[in-house]
Amino acid sequence: MKLWILLPVLPLLCGCHRVSGQPTHRDLLRKDGFSWTRTATDHFRVYTERGSEAEQLADLLALQLEQSYQRARRLLQIPEQNGTIHVFAVGGRDRMQKLVGRSIDGLALHRRRVIAMVFGIEEGPVAEPTHEVMHILAMNTFGLGPVWLNEGLAVYAGGRWRGRDVHEVAREYAAANRLVELRMLTRRFRDVDPSIAFPQAGSFVRYLYESHGIDAIRALWRRDDDAFREITTQTVEAAEQQWRVFLTGAVADTSARAWKPMRAHF
Ligand SMILES: [Zn+2]
Repeated sequence: MKLWILLPVLPLLCGCHRVSGQPTHRDLLRKDGFSWTRTATDHFRVYTERGSEAEQLADLLALQLEQSYQRARRLLQIPEQNGTIHVFAVGGRDRMQKLVGRSIDGLALHRRRVIAMVFGIEEGPVAEPTHEVMHILAMNTFGLGPVWLNEGLAVYAGGRWRGRDVHEVAREYAAANRLVELRMLTRRFRDVDPSIAFPQAGSFVRYLYESHGIDAIRALWRRDDDAFREITTQTVEAAEQQWRVFLTGAVADTSARAWKPMRAHF
């Protein structure tokens, strides 16, 4: 099978939370004006829109989804999950608008175990399968959680930000004094420019995870500051300051440790 280079992947816009009346996969399959090619893997049913670039890339998407599932499960340290995840892939945001009513790159409906996403190489940045799969598994394991943490963990799981190491991106923002205050990030995530909010949260969450493990993330998810302090021996504010020092200081490049999903080979 020929594997294509995918453009840097990211959810420029990703909807993951508090969607009232979440559609089921059957609702989406019944949607007028769509026909689907179906692929099945161990954990997914994949529906790619007929005639779209996503359909041409269905095999690659299926591979990436299975990799993503294992990656997310390892990070969350959870056993195999029951239940199939249904993934709908279309070729562009215009089709997402028609399918889910929102012009976004990725959408994870955790209660329904449904993902809808743009997948292709012609449309520019497209959704990252690992990002959306992490949302599904994390929310079904921990509950909704704070938006910034949910997105940060999903970015970390995705491994790259626009094809670059997420710490490198955050380091550049730090050098340009463009990182936002912790309070802004954690309380008004959706009000922050997404091109800063997502990599900032992704870098900070990666730092927390790699310094203190999943238990610290889980404590923050529960908004349990006492548990976080017990696990890390510091406050969230102190951890954030430490992360900023890590970003700006002479630190070893850890990019080699960043996870990369299967992509094309030259
Ligand atoms: Zn997201």
